[in-house]
Amino acid sequence: MNSSAVSGPRILFRQIRQVMAGTGDAERRLQKIVRLIASNMIAEVCSCYLMRAGDVLELFATEGLKQEAIHHTRLRVGEGLVGDIAAHSRPLNLSDAQSHKQFAYRPETGEEIYHSLMGVPIMRGGRVIGVLVVQNRTMRHYTDEEVEALQTVAMVVAELISSEQMISSKELLDTAGNATTPHRVAGRVLADGLAVGYAILHEPHIIVRRTIAENTGEEVKRLNAAVDRLQDSIDEMLSDTDALFTDESRDIFEAYKMFAHDKSWLKRLADAVDSGLTAEAAIKRVQDDTRARMKKITDPYIRERLSDLDDLANRLFLHLEGTQGVDRQHLTADTVVIARNMGAAELLDYDRVHLKAVVLLEGTRSSHVAIVARALGIPVIGQCAEISDAVEEDDFILVDGENGQVFLRPGDDVIQVFEQSMRHREQRQAKYAALRDKRAISKDEKTITLSMNAGLLIDLDNFQEAGADGIGLFRTELQFMVRSQMPKVDEQTDLYTKVLDKANGRPVIFRTLDVGGDKALPYLQMKEEENPALGWRAIRIGLDRPALLKAQLRAMVRASVGRKLTIMFPMIAEVSEFIEAKSLLMKEIDREEKRNGGKPTEVKVGTMLEVPSIVWQLPHLLKVADFVSVGSNDLLQFYFAVDRGNARVTDRYDMLSSSFMSMLKYIVDECAKTDTPLSICGDVAGRPLEAMALLGLGYRNLSMSLEGVGPVKEMVRSADIGKVQDFLSVLCLSREKSAREQIRAFAKDHGIII
Ligand code: PEP
Ligand code: MG
Repeated sequence: MNSSAVSGPRILFRQIRQVMAGTGDAERRLQKIVRLIASNMIAEVCSCYLMRAGDVLELFATEGLKQEAIHHTRLRVGEGLVGDIAAHSRPLNLSDAQSHKQFAYRPETGEEIYHSLMGVPIMRGGRVIGVLVVQNRTMRHYTDEEVEALQTVAMVVAELISSEQMISSKELLDTAGNATTPHRVAGRVLADGLAVGYAILHEPHIIVRRTIAENTGEEVKRLNAAVDRLQDSIDEMLSDTDALFTDESRDIFEAYKMFAHDKSWLKRLADAVDSGLTAEAAIKRVQDDTRARMKKITDPYIRERLSDLDDLANRLFLHLEGTQGVDRQHLTADTVVIARNMGAAELLDYDRVHLKAVVLLEGTRSSHVAIVARALGIPVIGQCAEISDAVEEDDFILVDGENGQVFLRPGDDVIQVFEQSMRHREQRQAKYAALRDKRAISKDEKTITLSMNAGLLIDLDNFQEAGADGIGLFRTELQFMVRSQMPKVDEQTDLYTKVLDKANGRPVIFRTLDVGGDKALPYLQMKEEENPALGWRAIRIGLDRPALLKAQLRAMVRASVGRKLTIMFPMIAEVSEFIEAKSLLMKEIDREEKRNGGKPTEVKVGTMLEVPSIVWQLPHLLKVADFVSVGSNDLLQFYFAVDRGNARVTDRYDMLSSSFMSMLKYIVDECAKTDTPLSICGDVAGRPLEAMALLGLGYRNLSMSLEGVGPVKEMVRSADIGKVQDFLSVLCLSREKSAREQIRAFAKDHGIII
């Protein structure tokens, strides 16, 4: 191979186009193409392996290897060098292939005389559909430019083998049509539920329908026009605050703006078109490069920037096509959105009627998108990275948000079983609905208060149906997060009034703004912090910027004139912080009374217990607080020092460990001494098994997300809490890293429905 081979893909493309336009049987044309590639790239071997059903790569055409190997040499994905390229969807470049640990010798090919090997995946819609390989006798190292050239050729081959004529070839039938094979992907349930719909890619794949340019001059014009439109649209977005709220934060757009004008990115695109590709193929080519670089880089900052570039390529593609992509507000069919990750606001951007489920490549249970999805009853499966290579736009999908599975293009048998699960689920929901007006009273006649966690007005509508006793946690920040600018006092007053009206006399606990950490407000300038969870957040912001907190307190006071007001503060770590925050509230109440002559009939001020330091100040805190509520999501995070948003560590420790449970028990005992109302409002309160343990520890007020209310009520009604309590008091004294299995066995033995 020499450098002219690299600068000459244009000639090769022209030759390939002639073959593609010609007549004759599909395989023979593929054979001609590998011969052209070998001669153009001065390689002694060029082989094309295509994916068959069952994830097997089969040799379909070769120049240089023995012809009798065609259709005989087969490698599973992950087997041999070819299988390795497919498994990792990335190129391999080896000067001595046979010494590589993955090398799998296939005698029928006669490949023992070839030492160097370079192979690239053939991709279609983000999926590997084959592998293209060149080999030489000498031990040579192919240059980066040569690898890039073969990748470009692989794009052309992808187009060829997916073309109609090729698909109609019997041999290639199940190859190019591979996208229709069913596929199951496992992930983690972030929001419960079952759903069926058609896939929409939040960040669409670029599907190139035409790879080789007919007229390069035309393609240059198309590319330039698309770049202009992209740059204009980013400028527009930057000046339009509403779009900032619905789409991305200003920072991201600022970065996009920089990249959209980045000379080296634009040059790479121009070079790709110059080499004979169409504008869309050039964008795809450059995007593939970015992705390959991304895979090698571990630095999170650089990865983040590369991922911006990746997204920018998608946007440029849409401008080229002259479309804006999917109209998220007006979907036409039941939809499952596939995204790398998503903010809560982006989720709310989708048409509520047709959005049935979300599958995230990343994401955790306590991320805001998951919290909002749970409020909306939309199942979410997270940590499902594998789906990105398997899914295509419009694929039919079943989302099993009970077992954390996603079925792509399922067969009839799977659909039937799934429909059965959906019917069962409906029956279960009907059973919970029948419990709606029943109280959560245990077998030994203990009454448990089951409240709901809310944050959106829609939660309040659901709350009527859920059969909850009140709102145990109203996360006010969600309303702030889904807006493009800071809501004014009047707007906040209006919102809190609606919340109280909808609660219709049932208790509501408002929590003041809990932002910072992972909850960013696009309009609140925050400095980048090394450790945001431990940084300037929640009450710390409220006390340092009292105007913000006072405005919110004022709105809450106004909304509660003539009725009861219950407020708690987030992330209190010191009693003095609570006293300071409470005094701001008292001043607001006085001020309002003097100005407008009204005040709440009763005021209760409490705090969340989310930071271990405040737990060790309970005897002091309980002298000044009217009530406390355990925020176990954060309390666990700080107790075990595990980032609640980091999927790698969140499951490392268990809330049902003796040590954590004894802290929870200590809180119960301290509150009992002063007769202080206590509740728990972290996610664990909504899971029947954990909730049963909480009852055993002495908790009587549980506040949870909507979907937890029915199952927890059923659990309470089937439990003898006195017995659970005896059992738990022993467990608290032991030294279990996790007592989960013992607790589960106890439930089973005592007929408690968990
Ligand atoms: C918690 O920390 O347990 C909690 C309920 O608050 P949030 O999840 O909003 O941080
Ligand atoms: Mg919290």
